[in-house]
Amino acid sequence: MIHHPIGDEMLLNYAAGRLPAAQDLLVATAVSLDDDARARLGGFDALGGILLEDTGETEIAPDALDAVMARLDGPATSGRAASSSGAVLPQPLRDAVGGDLEAVRWRPVGMGVRQCVIDLGEDDGGVARLLSIPAGHAMPDHGHGGTEFTLVLQGAFLDGDARFARGDLEVASEADEHTPTAEAGEDCICLVVTDAPLRFSGFLPRIAQRFLKI
Ligand code: ZN
Repeated sequence: MIHHPIGDEMLLNYAAGRLPAAQDLLVATAVSLDDDARARLGGFDALGGILLEDTGETEIAPDALDAVMARLDGPATSGRAASSSGAVLPQPLRDAVGGDLEAVRWRPVGMGVRQCVIDLGEDDGGVARLLSIPAGHAMPDHGHGGTEFTLVLQGAFLDGDARFARGDLEVASEADEHTPTAEAGEDCICLVVTDAPLRFSGFLPRIAQRFLKI
């Protein structure tokens, strides 16, 4: 059950191939964990196909999207994406990392938090990293230079009144300053995509940031 799903705008941009590599990976991963998001994406893909076929008109009929979505409503998409043999990382991430969690090369970033920046080649449209926060621990207080997407893969974290568990996506913008805290019981592992460096409030984290590129 996804309580904080990915938004339509991002799915639309993904379907149109307009996202930088880091966000592309984020959407592919989120969709593999969320049947409803996969159905919505299917609608956008279908709409894109219709637009490509339509050579005469350049305008989208106002009800075109509704029509496509209506057609896709119902049992057209069935079953969860195969999460093969209880892997924590969905397939798009396993492809990027070269395996499941055992293939992740974690680096400590202080206070028990570990990260692994995912190599996306030459693309400079943001950074994708895996983050592991020990159960019951908080992330360092921080703000954002841009937008930060956090998709939960294992465990859960709390941020204010909201709880985010596997498949949930939190979007934090420049205006947000927050302290997500991993729920007790299980280390929280997330895919975090940022389009600008995080801004930490404390002096020490800022020094760490310079050396660890977080
Ligand atoms: Zn944040």
